[in-house]
Amino acid sequence: MSIEIRNVSKNFGDFKALRDVSLNIDSGELVALLGPSGCGKTTLLRIIAGLETADRGSILFAGEDTTDVHVRERQVGFVFQHYALFRHMTVFENVAFGLRVKPRSQRPSEAQIKQKVHELLNLVQLDWLADRFPSQLSGGQRQRIALARALAVEPKVLLLDEPFGALDAKVRKELRRWLRRLHDDLHVTSIFVTHDQEEALEVADRVVLMNAGNIEQVGSPQEVWDHPASPFVYGFLGDVNLFHGRAHEGEVLLDGLQLSSPEHADAQNQKAYAYVRPHDLDVERYSPGAGVDAAGRPRGIVAQLARAIVVGPVARLELIPVDDNKPVENAAPESVIEAQIPAQQFNEMGFREGETLVVT
Ligand code: ATP
Repeated sequence: MSIEIRNVSKNFGDFKALRDVSLNIDSGELVALLGPSGCGKTTLLRIIAGLETADRGSILFAGEDTTDVHVRERQVGFVFQHYALFRHMTVFENVAFGLRVKPRSQRPSEAQIKQKVHELLNLVQLDWLADRFPSQLSGGQRQRIALARALAVEPKVLLLDEPFGALDAKVRKELRRWLRRLHDDLHVTSIFVTHDQEEALEVADRVVLMNAGNIEQVGSPQEVWDHPASPFVYGFLGDVNLFHGRAHEGEVLLDGLQLSSPEHADAQNQKAYAYVRPHDLDVERYSPGAGVDAAGRPRGIVAQLARAIVVGPVARLELIPVDDNKPVENAAPESVIEAQIPAQQFNEMGFREGETLVVT
């Protein structure tokens, strides 16, 4: 079922939690709402669910306005971060619950319930836990059961609010791949809230970046990563270095980094800035004269290696720009340059903390 969010605003007192938000979600899509804490993700999800009402705007399911449709009639399934399974019920009974409370005319027979619950437990690969109680399950198993329970009533829309937020990193990773595969099989229109950019980029068909009650950008993971629409998106999706400088006749000179930029062909000493990801920078050992090219222009940023951390195949370097071969006094955090190079290159070059390098 497609979902249309049309000019939705929501205030809590004077606080604007959502500001005129519009978004179309196609039937069968898996969309991530991504943004920092407090940006309005959960509020938007709750409005779509019918658990909260918008001050202005409307939500349409398959083209129909849902404003007057009660949450129970919206055919939505929920999974929350701390989904309280019924503690006194077995896994089987938890999953069966939604079927048992259907109006008598729609209620399946006991045999049908049994068959359906086992199908769902097989789908989430936990049929062997049917007789256990929630307290006898791991956190990851509980979330998979919660999902089976949400799917029991065959929802047209699945809403997941930080479904893996409370789990440890390894289980989270497993479950996001599992969710992706499950969605590929079921094709239920799904919206999940996360503040974890890796999770959103890995799982979703499209990512909706939210900031302070606004949508900043909507796009495929590749689109938002390669073409961030704003400095906020760029910064939120990963570590980034901000360089200030000047654009002049097709070249941009940023703190010593020189880039050719055809877009600035007509620029005459204009102010410019650029965001550069750590893995797009390279480093080499400094030697006197290495910081300038034949024409005497800076060829890179001369910087002291303040810290190096090797994590698996990657070496993460923190570099502080130096003046006259002396570190800039009290370098502000934003002047620290982050670079990432292959660990192999780092080891082969034998870079040491404290030595002077050139960032290119
Ligand atoms: P998080 O990732 O921390 O859950 P979020 O992006 O989901 O954040 P929301 O839960 O949508 O954010 O909240 C948006 C803002 O609205 C927050 O500043 C929150 O404090 C505020 N807010 C949410 N619900 C209420 C409420 N019932 N009353 C007052 N303020 C609220």
